[in-house]
Amino acid sequence: MVQAAYLHIPFCEQICHYCDFNKVFFQGQPVEEYLQAMDTELRNTVESHPPQNLKTIFVGGGTPTVLTMKQLEQFLTSINQYLLPRQPNLEFTFEANPGDLPKEKLQLLADAGVNRISFGVQTFDDQLLEKIGRTHRRKDVFQTIEFAKEVGFKNISIDLMYALPTQTLESFKDSLDIAFSLEVEHFSAYSLIIEPKTVFYNLMRRGKLHLPGEENEACMYELLLEEMSKHNYSQYEISNFAKKGFESQHNLTYWNNEEYYGIGAGAHSYIGGKRISNAGPIKKYMSNIAETGFPYVEINQISVKEKMEEELFLGLRKIEGVSISHFYEKFGKSIFDIFQEQINEQIKKGLIEESNGFIRLTHQGKFLGNEVFQAFLL
Ligand code: SF4
Repeated sequence: MVQAAYLHIPFCEQICHYCDFNKVFFQGQPVEEYLQAMDTELRNTVESHPPQNLKTIFVGGGTPTVLTMKQLEQFLTSINQYLLPRQPNLEFTFEANPGDLPKEKLQLLADAGVNRISFGVQTFDDQLLEKIGRTHRRKDVFQTIEFAKEVGFKNISIDLMYALPTQTLESFKDSLDIAFSLEVEHFSAYSLIIEPKTVFYNLMRRGKLHLPGEENEACMYELLLEEMSKHNYSQYEISNFAKKGFESQHNLTYWNNEEYYGIGAGAHSYIGGKRISNAGPIKKYMSNIAETGFPYVEINQISVKEKMEEELFLGLRKIEGVSISHFYEKFGKSIFDIFQEQINEQIKKGLIEESNGFIRLTHQGKFLGNEVFQAFLL
């Protein structure tokens, strides 16, 4: 039963030094043709698997707001034509970069039903912003968030990064202080991961990237948890924090291991028990759609064993953890019949705990999440 949709706009005006997302420079791309191909994929997808009262739509990238007003109108018309029916309190998110978002665009989004904006801020340190390849600056964030509030957005999220090259604990604390002053509803905060084929990867291989190191990274995460709690943002996932009632319903779809559409180049879907990957390169994406109506390059039927693994692998990211009774309702088997050994081992290491009908990460486990999640792959 599909209740969530992700749509991917793979265009950016600049390429950040750490980014390994599926994206290309905006200039010179066949944007209208790409949007037309997405329209076809969207139409065919909902025809073959009609949605059940959608509860979330998430437009990510790339930078979706790099589209011109006319292109945005075309895109939003497709979305509002095909992604129906919806729950009355549908969460409709657009990712955006501060600085490239005039008020008219925000108004256009609001008029089309978008009710949540997620801003890629990363840090409020202008020197660091330059170092990581972002073109916006601290002042642009203030301006854009003011515009968003004036237009009427009441659910704004900010993405932050830590463990950036040369970043100190003090500089991260400064960014957090400024972020809290903006009084937004939601934060995501991720540590920098150096991915292959990025500018940072090449610098690292040449010994020219000065990262803060694991110990400092752990101190920054500890500071993040303390400061979020102090400012009444409740942690509901390893890297996500929200005011009460503003948790990202879309991301919870992933962590609850529920099904979703993934529309656009390089997007992934989980539909009818199958995990599906779309072609990544834009030209390949468009030619696949022209030939068959769908851009698929890989389709995997997920076995019951894999579904159970994913339930733990994804669900343990949530701070509430994995519900023991829900697992039984979903699979007709006790979580302990399947994972007793792994659960015991992780409890012994002090990384997870069982309480009030849930299996969840301990405080220490939050620092070693990846190690814990891997342990549940049978
Ligand atoms: S704006 Fe986002 S998608 Fe584009 S290069 Fe930067 S991090 Fe990647």
